[in-house]
Amino acid sequence: SGSTSRRQAIEAITNYSVPAPGFPEPLADTFGRNVFSLPVMKARLPKNVYKAVTATIDQGAPLDPTLADFVASAMKDWAIEKGASHYAHVFYPLTGFTAEKHDSFLEPDGAGASLAEFQGKTLLQGEPDASSFPNGGLRGTFEARGYTGWDVTSPAYILENPNGNTLCIPTIFISWTGEALDKKTPLLRSQQAMSKQAMRLLKLFGHTDVDTVVSYAGAEQEYFLIDRHFYYARPDLTVANRTLFGAKPSKGQEFDDHYFGAIPERVLAFMIEFDRELFKQGIPAKTRHNEVAPGQFEIAPVFEKSNLAHDHQQLMMTTMKRVAERYGMVALLHEKPFAGVNGSGKHVNFSLGNNNQGNLLNPGDTPHDNAQFLVFCAAIIRGVHKYGGLLRASIASASNDHRLGANEAPPAIISIFLGDQLMDVFDQIAKGGAKASKESGVLELGVDTLPPLKADAGDRNRTSPFAFTGNRFEFRAPGSNQSIADPMIAINAMLAESIDYIASFLEREIEGGAAFNDAIQKVLEEIIVEHGMVVFNGDGYSQAWQEEAAGRGLLNLRTTVDAIAQYDKPEIKELLSDYGILSNRELEARKEVVLEQYALTILVEAKETLEVGKTMILPAAIRYLGELAGTAAQLLAAGIQTETPTLLTLNKYVKDFNSSLGAIEEAIGGFGGDDVEAEAKYALDTLIPAMTVVRSIADKLESIVADDMWPLPTYNEMLTIL
Ligand code: ADP
Ligand code: MG
Repeated sequence: SGSTSRRQAIEAITNYSVPAPGFPEPLADTFGRNVFSLPVMKARLPKNVYKAVTATIDQGAPLDPTLADFVASAMKDWAIEKGASHYAHVFYPLTGFTAEKHDSFLEPDGAGASLAEFQGKTLLQGEPDASSFPNGGLRGTFEARGYTGWDVTSPAYILENPNGNTLCIPTIFISWTGEALDKKTPLLRSQQAMSKQAMRLLKLFGHTDVDTVVSYAGAEQEYFLIDRHFYYARPDLTVANRTLFGAKPSKGQEFDDHYFGAIPERVLAFMIEFDRELFKQGIPAKTRHNEVAPGQFEIAPVFEKSNLAHDHQQLMMTTMKRVAERYGMVALLHEKPFAGVNGSGKHVNFSLGNNNQGNLLNPGDTPHDNAQFLVFCAAIIRGVHKYGGLLRASIASASNDHRLGANEAPPAIISIFLGDQLMDVFDQIAKGGAKASKESGVLELGVDTLPPLKADAGDRNRTSPFAFTGNRFEFRAPGSNQSIADPMIAINAMLAESIDYIASFLEREIEGGAAFNDAIQKVLEEIIVEHGMVVFNGDGYSQAWQEEAAGRGLLNLRTTVDAIAQYDKPEIKELLSDYGILSNRELEARKEVVLEQYALTILVEAKETLEVGKTMILPAAIRYLGELAGTAAQLLAAGIQTETPTLLTLNKYVKDFNSSLGAIEEAIGGFGGDDVEAEAKYALDTLIPAMTVVRSIADKLESIVADDMWPLPTYNEMLTIL
């Protein structure tokens, strides 16, 4: 069925066969094979150099630049043995994507030959220029240079291509004045700020031997796969990364028959190769399964330190797209590629820990550990309450706006879920005095242990944006296409301030002669009384919660435009600048970039809506209208009186459609100006409503125009033919 291009697409898919199987090598030989890892460095570097590098990685000690020549030389030899001809500084500009600039190792020797060269200074610093990246005004043309700087904490790796390999070096990206032009720099700064405060707090608990406290992140990545033939037959997908048209399929996800179902053969073949590619890069891919919507899948790695998890997550997204192509598919990472079908998120699981004590969000076995655990939990509760606006802003984008609050992802209200047991403990603390826990009777802080907290899936609240899941928190609002840097920066930042507050409180109390356990009791009580309103264990999708949250004074920031305005709040500006994470100027630049990206995204969508509407949908509808009108005229000429309800309805839709296209054209014409805030607001208030009207009529047309005339692959076809 369908128009010629649709028919051809389906024919091609029907004749598709999965590429001949590879013969996978044993897992042990694959994992980390392309990584300039610690063992590789240990084998190839002088002992003192290796020690200095590991000290930087583990404890954040500054690296002596004079050692860089040794590392560079070893790295180059290793890369060339691995078939690399080029090296690339990889960085993470404010677009949220990954950028890389490749240079060859070759240096002419002046006598007609050339040598492979790679010096310490080339490892340490690059000048990609890259002045076309959005920078929110941080780089005038007079200061156009941007520099990349080696991030020692994230290992270099080989990017394979059948035609030759490239040595990739993760870097930060800054302006010549030292201002961050990327997502990685503030992530590292936030990690450092959090660590400093957490160590202060741990010292009060008697842990004086802690070098550093790190944040861990494990990001669950949802995505769609569709056949590339359909993809290329949908200009809205190729241009806007989402379908701007498409009637709901007759069978969607309501049977729940896709979720955790048997993985289709072609998809499984893709997943196996995808995992193998990730393993080679040392990315610990762990879980793969079907997701809720048809055509939707998920991959989750084992969690890692958040800076490494970030780099790996970015690499995972680009690898996914590459490998999907090998199997004739396109991986869609957009948050809402299909209206009316669940979108895709990226749940960021996080915890804190150090080498000595492991996970600090683990309740632990001793009363002492439990008190410490509760203090860290309280820091998180306080942080989410005070800086919910920052958390919401950290995940704001045009595409993620489609998910939040649409009853498939958490609402735009940032609240925290603790579960019954932990809630009960905090309830008892709030009431003061002896602490009775639901399951184990009386609980006294610093004396009794907590009962083991449940971490099973049954206890999960899938409607909460920020949920405690037994030994970690899960930030469930980030979108599938987003970098995890921004949410992790927000989390580290709020933790730094909250932990700082608690440590200062305890220090003051102890100085004033209070017993340690009493001081803890006091701070916990104060925090849960003042910030407990951010805790919500009920149904986040319900209308009742929208009202209750407003009553509790919690923010409900439905759009990116609303959310980004949080960056103007003095308490958020202070938080980020006081802890050395983002200066006011850097924050302002980020705000500009997000708004600019938001406005441009919507402008492109509106233009594409007009284009597809005018050149594909309207002609199809008019052709069918002509056919119906011709038939009616012929019948009439033959003396047959017929009812023509379809003709009349179609005629009306075509007229409406035409005027909606006129309206969107006019709306697009009104876009412009110098002020990004005004542009973003215009996109929200004028362009989006115009698109909605065009689409709603187009989707009605789809339901009555003859299938063989409909120009676009349908939802049914795209989502179920794999
Ligand atoms: P679910 O879908 O049930 O929430 P998944 O297994 O899909 O769980 O993903 C859970 C993610 O949380 C994984 O990436 C996992 O490594 C990560 N994770 C587990 N423990 C921690 C922790 N202590 N800190 C951070 N992330 C964690
Ligand atoms: Mg999962």
